[in-house]
Amino acid sequence: MNMPTLDTASVRIIAAEKDHLARNYLPLPVVIASGEGAWVTDAEGKRYLDLLSAYSALNFGHRHPALLAAATAQLGRVTLTSRAFHNDRLGAFATALAELCGKDLVLPMNTGAEAVETAIKVARAWAYRVKGVAQDAAQIVVAHGNFHGRTTTIVGFSDDPSARDDFGPYPPGFVAVPYGDAAALDAAIGPDTAAVLIEPIQGEAGVIIPPDGYLRAVRESCDRHGVLFIADEIQSGLGRAGTTFACDREDVVPDVYVLGKALGGGIVPLSAVVADEAVLGVIRPGEHGSTFGGNPLACAVGLQVVEMLASGEFQQRAALLGEHLAGRLDGLVGHGVTAVRVAGLWAGVDIDPARGTAREVAERLAERGVLAKDTHGQTLRIAPPLVVRATELDWAVEQLRVALDA
Ligand SMILES: *Cc1c(COP(=O)(O)O)cnc(C)c1O
Repeated sequence: MNMPTLDTASVRIIAAEKDHLARNYLPLPVVIASGEGAWVTDAEGKRYLDLLSAYSALNFGHRHPALLAAATAQLGRVTLTSRAFHNDRLGAFATALAELCGKDLVLPMNTGAEAVETAIKVARAWAYRVKGVAQDAAQIVVAHGNFHGRTTTIVGFSDDPSARDDFGPYPPGFVAVPYGDAAALDAAIGPDTAAVLIEPIQGEAGVIIPPDGYLRAVRESCDRHGVLFIADEIQSGLGRAGTTFACDREDVVPDVYVLGKALGGGIVPLSAVVADEAVLGVIRPGEHGSTFGGNPLACAVGLQVVEMLASGEFQQRAALLGEHLAGRLDGLVGHGVTAVRVAGLWAGVDIDPARGTAREVAERLAERGVLAKDTHGQTLRIAPPLVVRATELDWAVEQLRVALDA
């Protein structure tokens, strides 16, 4: 996208950022100043349809009235207590989230990476204290193409060079197998395996949907070998895939849910690990924590998120709108698009290299008022807020058709 050469507010804001902002991102040259529902407005007043939803952290759209009301009410009472004391929101949030997950216990954190780290610690403690694995021998099986966050332990078992190169040394204890290959996963499980950690649908990898039956096979392997199934549902969960959890697509219940992103309603960072007493109960006072984890502001928003999901309305919207979107996107295959993968209201669109990179298509889309994000070179990721309308999706796909031809 050619940066406008005019001396606009956006140009000045982007130029000013350059002086003091680390370059760990390469954002599209769009300066968002406000948002409502599925739409955002830039510093010049130009409107864009948001087809990224902050990587699914905005499943309920920008400033959903019920979420804003919950946050505003809590801002008027108390925002942070630390876990040194109880607060009057945490128990209600934990109870509601445990019920949504069908599990006993909730351990609240803030970011997704922290929740994944928590799940790794829980799995290892479970291996030593319950399964009887020898000290420091526990292994966790992960998948190629995974994305679980940016901490040093987590990038250590990524196979994306830009995520891991030059940030080592990395801790041992992880074994990677091809994603979607249930036999390879089963073969990688040994007596010291504590857990299998996978995304039920790989988001960052380009909305990679595993073959039908894969999640059931993983569940069966974990049961047979006595290892924990940890599902990282940070991006796939909470309605995105047309069901409460992507695991629901195969009627599979993991031992551990790892949640984040949309759990904070697009207002605050809020993540959680959810599991039964027999698993999460291994953690004792003082062994794990977070200054901000379980704060009353986040819990007030998280409770509202869980209540909104309880009716199933958003999941159903995602499923129906996703079918609609899939129909429209299928019409582009062979016309600048080589493949489309859709799960709920979530699509990976592979761009024909003859039409440019996915980044170039995203830039052309932004010029036409549609925000979407490229991933891994040729894939465009589409994850609109679940409050988007079918007619807005039609319009966005029409803009994509034009952007592919440009
Ligand atoms: C985004 C994401 C994470 C990391 O979450 P952060 O809040 O960015 O730390 C972990 N796992 C998956 C599947 C994700 O999509």
